[in-house]
Amino acid sequence: MKRVNSIVDAKAEIAKLKNENCAEDDVFFQAMEEVLLSIFPLFKSDEMYNKSAKNAIIRRLITPDRVIKFKVVWLDDKNEVQVNTGYRVQFNNALGPYKGGLRFHPSVNEGILKFLGFEQILKNALTGLPLGGAKGGSDFDPKGKSDFEVMKFCSAFMKELYKHIGPRIDVPAGDIGVGGREIGYLFGQYKRMTTAFEGVLTGKPAFFGGSLMRPEATGYGVIYFTRKMLELEGKETLEGKVCTVSGSGNVALHAIEKLQALGAVTVTCTDSKGMIYDARGVDLPLLKELKFERRASLEEYIKAHPEASYTPVSEYPKGGHAVWNIPCYAAFPCATQNELTAVDAKNLVKNGCVSVTEGANMPSTTDAVHIMLKSDICLAPAKAANAGGVAVSGFEMSQNAAMQKWTFEEVDLKLKATMEDICENVSSTAKEFGVAGNYVDGANIAGFKRVADAMIAEGV
Ligand code: GLU
Repeated sequence: MKRVNSIVDAKAEIAKLKNENCAEDDVFFQAMEEVLLSIFPLFKSDEMYNKSAKNAIIRRLITPDRVIKFKVVWLDDKNEVQVNTGYRVQFNNALGPYKGGLRFHPSVNEGILKFLGFEQILKNALTGLPLGGAKGGSDFDPKGKSDFEVMKFCSAFMKELYKHIGPRIDVPAGDIGVGGREIGYLFGQYKRMTTAFEGVLTGKPAFFGGSLMRPEATGYGVIYFTRKMLELEGKETLEGKVCTVSGSGNVALHAIEKLQALGAVTVTCTDSKGMIYDARGVDLPLLKELKFERRASLEEYIKAHPEASYTPVSEYPKGGHAVWNIPCYAAFPCATQNELTAVDAKNLVKNGCVSVTEGANMPSTTDAVHIMLKSDICLAPAKAANAGGVAVSGFEMSQNAAMQKWTFEEVDLKLKATMEDICENVSSTAKEFGVAGNYVDGANIAGFKRVADAMIAEGV
C-alpha cells in the first residue's frame, strides 16, 4: 500500500480503487471513503501510520476475506420453481468470529453487502466485544410472500449457507427483511442439516435460545446513545421534544417506543410508499399491529386516525424526503441507506434540528454528512449509534455458549452501559484527534484502531 501522506493522496488512492472495481460497488466506496478520510489524523499523529503502511492494513481492511455467492432454488405456492442469489461476505475476523446480519430485499447485490460488511467490522469493534464483521442476504423479496414461501426460501438458502457458518466461525443475524420468523426457519434448517443445536444465528425467538431484548436492542440503543451524546454536548434532554423518525421496521418502531417512554413526542414514521405525520405523537400499538402482524401499508393508519396525514412518495420534495422537512429537536433516520440527502440535511439545519442519530446503516449521503458536520447539528453515525443490535447479538452468543438465559433487565442494563461506553469512547477519541464534537471521525478512528491493532498483532 502506497503511503497516504495527505487527504489529497488518500482521495487519489480511493479514486484508483474505484476504477479498479465494478459500478455495483458504489455504496461500498462511499462507506470506505468516509472511513479513510476520517482516519487520516491517526496516520499523522502516531506510530499507527507507519505500522499500518508496513502491514498493508488499509488494503487488507477494505478487501473481504471471502465473498460467498450461491444459487437459491425454491418452490413457490403455485409449485413454480423460483431462483434467487444468496451471498455471505465474510469481511474480517481479526477480533472474533464473523458477525453481521442477513438482508432479504430485491436491491441486494454484492456491492451493498460489501458496504454493510465493511461498516459492520468497525461497528462491531466499537462494541468492545469479540466480534468480526460480515454481512449476507439475498435479492429475495419477502413482501407479498406467504409464510410457507418464506419458510421454503429460508430452508433453501440455509442448504448452502450452513457449510460456511458456525458458532466460532460466522454467526449471522437479521437485517432488513429478516426478523424472528426468518431466523427461526433458518435455524431449523441448520439444525436439520447438522444435527447441532448451537448458537449459530442470533435474533432467535426468545423461547428457543434467543436473547430477551434482541428485537428492541437496536432501537433502544439508538436512543441511549442519543441521550448520552446530548448530555456530553451540553444539550437539552429529549423529554417533551418533537422528534421525527423514518422507517417502520424493527429499528424505527423500537426507537419510537423508547422515545415515547422518555416523554418525547414522535410525530412521524415512513415506509417505502409514504409518510405518516401525527402531531399528537404516533399510535405505536397500531403501528406494531400494521407492520409486525398484518405487514400492511402505512396508508392504513389513516383509517384509524383520520386527523393524522399521509404523504405518498410522489408528493415528497424534489431530491428529498418529506420527513426531514418537519421541524424537530431530534431526527432519527431508521429506514435504509442514503435516505437522507443534501436537500434534507439543509432542511434539518434550516429548521433548527439539534441532533441527528443514524438508526439505519449509512442513511445519510456523503453530501448530507458534510452539511450536517459543518452545522451545529450533533450527528451520531450509524456504526456507533446502532451498534446496540449487534451488541445484544453478542450477549445472545454468550448466553448460548454458557447455556444461560439473562433477564430482560440484565440485558437492558448491559445494553445501556455498552451504548454509553461507545458514546464516551467516540467523543473522547474525537477530542484526542483534534476533531472534538465530530462523532463521525471519532467512531471511524476508534473502530479502526481496535481492528488495526489486532490485525497487526496477528501477523500475516
Ligand atoms: N443487522 C444488524 C446490524 O446492522 C445486526 C447484526 C447482528 O446482530 O449480527 O448491525
